[in-house]
Amino acid sequence: MAVEKRYVEVLLPLKLKDTLSYRLPQGLMAEEGSWVQVPLRGYPALGVVLQVLDSAPVGVNLSGIEEVEAVLDIPAATAMERNFWQALADYYLCTPGEVLKAAFNAGIQKLMLQPPRPRKSPKKKAGTATGEAVAPADYPLCELSENQRIAMEQVRTGFSQHKPVLLNGVTGSGKTEIYLHLAAGQLQQGRDVLYLVPEIAISKQLEQRLAAVFGPQLLVYHSRTTVPQRYRVMDTLRRDPTPRILLGTRSAIFLPFRKLGLVVVDEEHDRSYKQDDTAPRYNGRDAALMLAGLHKANVLLGSATPSCEARFNVQTRKFCSAELPCRYYGGDAAEIEIIDMAQALRLHNMEGSFSRKLLKEMAAVLEAGKQVMVFRSRRAYAPVVQCEACGEVVKCPHCNVALSYHRFNNSLSCHYCGFNRPYDLRCPSCGEVALVERGSGTEKLEEELRDAFPDRTVARFDADTTQSKTAEDRLIRDFAAGRIDILVGTQMITKGFDFERLALVAVISADGLFAVQDFRSDERAFQLLTQLMGRSGRRGEAGKLVIQTFQPDHPVLQRLQHPEAYSDPAAGLLVERKTFSYPPYVRLISVTVKDRYEGRVWNVCRLIEEAAKAIGIRDIAGPTAPAVDMVAGEHIRQFWIKLPRDRNLAATKRALYMRVDQIEREFKGHTTLIIDVDPQ
Ligand code: ADP
Ligand code: ZN
Repeated sequence: MAVEKRYVEVLLPLKLKDTLSYRLPQGLMAEEGSWVQVPLRGYPALGVVLQVLDSAPVGVNLSGIEEVEAVLDIPAATAMERNFWQALADYYLCTPGEVLKAAFNAGIQKLMLQPPRPRKSPKKKAGTATGEAVAPADYPLCELSENQRIAMEQVRTGFSQHKPVLLNGVTGSGKTEIYLHLAAGQLQQGRDVLYLVPEIAISKQLEQRLAAVFGPQLLVYHSRTTVPQRYRVMDTLRRDPTPRILLGTRSAIFLPFRKLGLVVVDEEHDRSYKQDDTAPRYNGRDAALMLAGLHKANVLLGSATPSCEARFNVQTRKFCSAELPCRYYGGDAAEIEIIDMAQALRLHNMEGSFSRKLLKEMAAVLEAGKQVMVFRSRRAYAPVVQCEACGEVVKCPHCNVALSYHRFNNSLSCHYCGFNRPYDLRCPSCGEVALVERGSGTEKLEEELRDAFPDRTVARFDADTTQSKTAEDRLIRDFAAGRIDILVGTQMITKGFDFERLALVAVISADGLFAVQDFRSDERAFQLLTQLMGRSGRRGEAGKLVIQTFQPDHPVLQRLQHPEAYSDPAAGLLVERKTFSYPPYVRLISVTVKDRYEGRVWNVCRLIEEAAKAIGIRDIAGPTAPAVDMVAGEHIRQFWIKLPRDRNLAATKRALYMRVDQIEREFKGHTTLIIDVDPQ
């Protein structure tokens, strides 16, 4: 008697081009989307069944085919999820396996294969197990103001036309309150809500605000969520039909939503939505738009400084827009004061990194019982150390970049590869004991401020002081409670926090923000300064933003000071982007080549250039050396490819991907090739 032999095509969380075929032993039942355990090079691996075949797959050596070991007791991945993985892979030029790996990291894969024993917790669940709507009165929402009601109408109009809506509103204008109202509406109708925030903005403050409204219907998912917590969030979404609001960073787009009704992307312009270290190099905002498209869910993008991309989409009527023109508690926008550093130096008005004027203003603010925030884009004590004998700047032995001096552990460290060495004042180049620190990072500013204000509490908020979530939360809590008078920090201090007593924000050396050689640098500087401006004086009192700079006439500062002369702050930028044909007017793709041998880098670069020409790509710039052109011993070169946004776009992207993949395989083990679609 013929035994029925069935086979499955399994997608594995690996950079494989294709699915792998396995035999499904008798007694095991699988369907499309089933989670399975399969052998892979002798180890059990997690996979998803993409296809069940009744006959043997063609072109596969059946004697070598292995058997599925187990079909896991996890509700199958929905067609929607599988389509989403494929859509991301197609758009971002990677394999669906790489997307799967991003969605389920190694730790989660392990838990899916060996689920932890269910905890014997008392059966006290959020909502009801049947997913019945929770009574509207259960959500303690504020009543919307007149402005918010108008904005809400604009949002609803957009949604009724099935378009994403861009909500443009200054910090403190009440955007979050609008998100909460819309989210409550969706939950009441039994649909899930995804609330995305940039990596940097996830804060206890926001979490608490949402928890106060939604209670246990709120789930949280971000990089600081532990693996078991993440697993539980996924499991809850798959098994429990209670509608949920999911607050998370970009990777939350991979969660198994059943009926997604609304996606909120707060601070949509923020570059930390972009994943650029591993494939898929996706932008959480854009991926969220794809996800919402599959679910036919509404999308609300919020920002005080919308990206050029979002404004372009409003202009071309792909998006609708809504406005919240003023702060909820009223009060004027923060006052801006620019301090010309060249002049301050000439007149001997500097004390270390601070102008006397700024120090005086700080003193006055502190005297009045208010708080100060000091922003500096560089962490460490000194970004550079230099030898006074031979003039050499001490560089990382593996990267083409200066080492930073950290005083707290007396070391020189590389912010690119993590290289670390003790600091002993001896020049590694000429051997003289003549090293001196140049420039000032956050650590130095902290020290200077302690000297200037000996009876005030000064604290620092940067990657070095917030390595643990606890330390980070404590700093925020202490600042919010007034236990810290002056907080010095990097980009991390700019977002997501609401401090009542903060009256003055100071930017030390804005020039670092303008110096970046990138078509986006002005836009970013403007966004960052606007964010900082929004941080001060939130409750109806005008705060102040003081900017120290050597370029007081820089266009970004002009725009910041005279918003009335730039009614649409990005219009100028959009015109510039169009003139020089940059995104969003074209699609930008970068191809990066990395290799230990410079010669091979050039060889590979030539092949890429030829391949691009062969498939009809006309606008390709490079190879150019990035600002840091050697990292961890590898030489780096880049190509910038501009593709017209036309009908051939998808096909050209695909062809480019195939060629690059082919070249990569040819040089496997030596050269790394990275394709980045919409690089940031
Ligand atoms: P944004 O998200 O635009 O920064 P928020 O929603 O955080 O603004 O609002 C700023 C402040 O105003 C918050 O403290 C918030 O609680 C308060 N607020 C906003 N809308 C209302 C409202 N309708 N009723 C009461 N307070 C509100
Ligand atoms: Zn290094």
